[in-house]
Amino acid sequence: MSQLSIYNSLTRKKEQFVPLTPGYVGMYVCGPTVYSDVHLGNCRTFISFDLMYRYFLHLGYKVRYVRNITDAGHLEGDRDEGDDKFSKKARLEQLEPMEIVQRYTLGFRKMMEMFNNLPPTIEPTATGHISEQIEMTQQILANGYAYEVNGTIYFDVQKYDKEKPYGILTNRKLEDLLEGTRELGGQDEKRGRLDFALWIKAKPEHLMQWPSPWGMGFPGWHIECSAMSKKYLGNEFDIHGGGMDLAATHHTNEIAQNQACYHVSPARYWLHTNMLTVNGTRMSKSAGNGFLPGELFTGNHPLLERAYSPMTVRFFMLQTHYRSTLDFSNEALQAAEKGMKRLWEAYDIVKKLEAGTVAATDKALDEKVSSLLASMDECMNDDFNTARVLAVLFEVVPIINSIKDGHIKLQALSGTTIAAVQTYFKAYLENIFGLKNEVQSEDGKLSGVLQLLIEIRKDAKQKKDYATSDKIRNQLLGLGVALKDEKDGGVTVSFT
Ligand code: AMP
Ligand code: ZN
Repeated sequence: MSQLSIYNSLTRKKEQFVPLTPGYVGMYVCGPTVYSDVHLGNCRTFISFDLMYRYFLHLGYKVRYVRNITDAGHLEGDRDEGDDKFSKKARLEQLEPMEIVQRYTLGFRKMMEMFNNLPPTIEPTATGHISEQIEMTQQILANGYAYEVNGTIYFDVQKYDKEKPYGILTNRKLEDLLEGTRELGGQDEKRGRLDFALWIKAKPEHLMQWPSPWGMGFPGWHIECSAMSKKYLGNEFDIHGGGMDLAATHHTNEIAQNQACYHVSPARYWLHTNMLTVNGTRMSKSAGNGFLPGELFTGNHPLLERAYSPMTVRFFMLQTHYRSTLDFSNEALQAAEKGMKRLWEAYDIVKKLEAGTVAATDKALDEKVSSLLASMDECMNDDFNTARVLAVLFEVVPIINSIKDGHIKLQALSGTTIAAVQTYFKAYLENIFGLKNEVQSEDGKLSGVLQLLIEIRKDAKQKKDYATSDKIRNQLLGLGVALKDEKDGGVTVSFT
């Protein structure tokens, strides 16, 4: 069997995956900033890494999978500009910042569960690792790569770049990077335009602040991932991942911090997932095109023709390689739904097949099927190419259907090949792709029922039958399902 090769952003090529310690994989993935709901784009990234995690487990590795929760320190701009995202939201909603964190952490975990993502083995929070971030900042200061201005500590990018290329991850020279940033003004504290904060002095009214050797403050966003990956995976580990948008600033700064502190680049392989787009534009909160998974499951969004189940969405994502952009469309989701149904139907037949005679009566077909199965591993080993694995599975499906229809005799295939088909379907559909057959699952049925109730209520409202529409809303509320009518005519569902 071929070896797993992975596209490494750091070297810009596919490389054979060789773990630092045989049999073990250490993987760090940047988690969500929990100040609002995760949108479908965020979910694409986490589904992609779940798939890799599942594949490593399938290959028999012991995996330490660390995915953090950013619950402090993330400012609106990636370069230390703007308000703190948590404080802003807390003021807006008149809640404690930690109430904001709790609400969206729970929401995030629920979404991950809906998509059948396995939980990481460690899920550390930035606020739980303030002392580690302070220690790292102190060490970077002591090593001479940072400076203090008024209680804020900045990383000195220009000084660092004299020794190590700062733009190594995206293969860009400092001069080019500088071109893309604004000139410093008289009120700026930084010495260099690309310098970024390791620790930020807090104004007295700032809601989340901690004591440090430089006074009350809070950590910069980038230092949390350096501190937590080092704590749980060591100075050097196998894989660091995140969305592609994180490479140019967040991950570039992480590498610089680790090098400046421990003189070693943290991860051997840097993996970046591509973006989910809507009509060609990246899905994001700021673009206003970031719909929530909940809206997808109920179909209540102007862009959605109807509801789609979590597994349809997961399958839709698997049909595209993680390094390609994926454009959202109703047609693609409907095609995914059909395709997945065909696969489950074939899997049902596969499960019932009894191995026939030991020797195949149709040797050519038998060889074809076993080589198709082997090529699924080849595709997966080629940088986790789920899209191609699925294409191969769809070549096996008609053969399975022909056995069911009696066009091909069961004995055409050898007992070994039939057993292999069963093993591969189970391994890929359930364990590696993490799909669940919703037709049989309670979740799938329930979301269909909920959708039906929403539609009946909509009809009732149109007919001015408010007794029925209110009854549906109130009774659902009593069951912990809150429906909120939006201005655009849609309905948002939340679970209380
Ligand atoms: P955030 O909570 O904004 O820090 O984002 C969490 C993760 O989602 C990061 O790894 C981002 O790179 C990723 N992400 C953000 N937008 C998209 C998108 N449209 N498609 C795929 N991944 C995204
Ligand atoms: Zn990170």
